[in-house]
Amino acid sequence: MSIKKKITSYSVIFFVLYIIFVSVVVYLDFKALNNKKSREFYENLVVTCTEIKKLMYGKEENPLVFFYKFSNIVLKILRSEGVILYDNSKYGKFNQNLHKVSLIYGDFVVIGNIKPDFLEKIFPVEPYGNVGSVINPVFVARYPLLWEGKVFGYLITWKEFNNLNFTVFGIFGTSLVFFLVYVLVISRYLSSISKDLKFLSGIIKGVAKKEFSKTDLLRENAMRSKDKDSEIYELKVAVIKMIETLKKILIETSKEKTLYERMALTDPLTGLYNRRVFTEMAEKELAKAKRYGYNFSILMIDIDNFKKINDTYGHDVGDLVLKKISEILKRNVRGADLVARFGGEEFIVMLSNTNLNGAVKKAEQLRRMIEQTPIELPNGEKLRVTVSIGVSTYRGHESLEELIKEADQALYEAKRKGKNRVEVFRESLTL
Ligand code: GH3
Ligand code: MG
Ligand code: MG
Repeated sequence: MSIKKKITSYSVIFFVLYIIFVSVVVYLDFKALNNKKSREFYENLVVTCTEIKKLMYGKEENPLVFFYKFSNIVLKILRSEGVILYDNSKYGKFNQNLHKVSLIYGDFVVIGNIKPDFLEKIFPVEPYGNVGSVINPVFVARYPLLWEGKVFGYLITWKEFNNLNFTVFGIFGTSLVFFLVYVLVISRYLSSISKDLKFLSGIIKGVAKKEFSKTDLLRENAMRSKDKDSEIYELKVAVIKMIETLKKILIETSKEKTLYERMALTDPLTGLYNRRVFTEMAEKELAKAKRYGYNFSILMIDIDNFKKINDTYGHDVGDLVLKKISEILKRNVRGADLVARFGGEEFIVMLSNTNLNGAVKKAEQLRRMIEQTPIELPNGEKLRVTVSIGVSTYRGHESLEELIKEADQALYEAKRKGKNRVEVFRESLTL
C-alpha cells in the first residue's frame, strides 16, 4: 500500500473507532447519570409524600379528594407534572365529588390531564424510570396510594430534564486517549519509513564509493518486506536494479579500458609496439643514455620485395609474413631492447647498451636468421623472405629523430646495394 493510502486508511479507521468509542462512552455516561437522577427524583417524591401526608392525615373523609389535594401540593413542591390513577371497580363510590376525571384506562380512572399514549408509556414504570432519550430524559416516579392499609391507586409523576451540557470529561478523556494512540501508531509507521530510508541512503553512499558488498543485505531486506505495494519497496527494488546495472557498466568499462589501452599501445596485426609508443619509450632510453653515458643503436629493418609477395600470394600471405618476421625479431632481442612496427613492412629495433659493433653483429644475425627461416604458407609452400637493415648508433649528442633518419639512410643504402644486407650509417651517406 502506498504511504499516502496507508496514512489515510489509518486515519479513517481511527476516526470511525473514535466516533464509536465516544458515542458509547457518552451513552453509558448519560445512562448512569439518568439512573442516578431518576432515583433521586423518586426518593424526593417519597420523602415529600411522607411529609405532606403527616401534615394532612385524617383531614379528609373521601380518599380521592384527599389524594387529589395531596398530589397538587407534592407536584408543586417537586415542580413536576402528574396524575392520579385509581381502581374504579373497588373505589367507584368515592368518585362523586370529583370533576377532573379525564379518561378511563383499563380498570383505572385517571384524574388529571394526560394523553392516553403518554399514559401507556408511563403507567408500566415501577417505581421509577426514564421514558425519554439519554440526552432528554423524562423521569417518571410511581407512588402507591393507600387508604386504610390497602393500595387503591397510584400517584404518577414525571419531569423532563436536559443533559446536553454534561459529560465533557467523557468526551475529552476519550479524545485524548485516541489522539495519543493515533499519534503513536502514525509515528511508529513514519519511523519505520525513516529507518528504511536511512538504510537505503547508507547503501547508496557505499555504492558512490564503489562498495557493492551491502547489495545482498538490501536484497534480503527487500525480500522480507511485508508490504510489496509501498513506495519504499519500489525504491529498494529500483536501487537494487540500479546497482546491478552499475556493476555491469563498471565491468564492461574496465574490460573496454584494458582493451583500448592495449590497442593504443600495440599494432593489432603483429602485437608489436606501434611507432608512437616506440618513440616515447626510446626517448626515455635516450635521456638515460645521455645522463649515464650509455651506448645504444637503432636498426631499421625493411622486408625486401614485399610488394611482390603481396602481388603474388595475396594480402593474407603478406600479413602472415609480417607476423612471422615480427616473431623472429621479438624472440631474438634482449628484454631491455625495443622492437616496434614502424610502418607498413618496416620494423625498428632499439638495442640498448649496444655500440656500433654489437649492433652490426646483431643486425647480421637477424638478417641471416630471417633468410634461413622459410615461412610455411597455408598451401604448404615454403616461402623465403629477406630483409635489408640500416644501422645507426648513438654517439653522445644525436636526437632520436636524427638517429632514425640515419638508420633509414643506411637502409636505403642497403637496398641500393642489392638488398638482403646490412649497412651502417656513415657521414658520407648524407653528402
Ligand atoms: P623494397 O624491396 O624496395 O622494400 O620493395 P617493397 O616492395 O618491399 O617496397 P614497397 O614500399 O614498394 O612496398 C611495400 C608494400 O607493403 C606496399 C604495401 O602494399 C605493403 N604493405 C604495407 N603494409 C602492409 C600490411 O599490413 N599487410 C600487407 N599484406 N601488406 C602491406
Ligand atoms: Mg618499405
Ligand atoms: Mg620493402
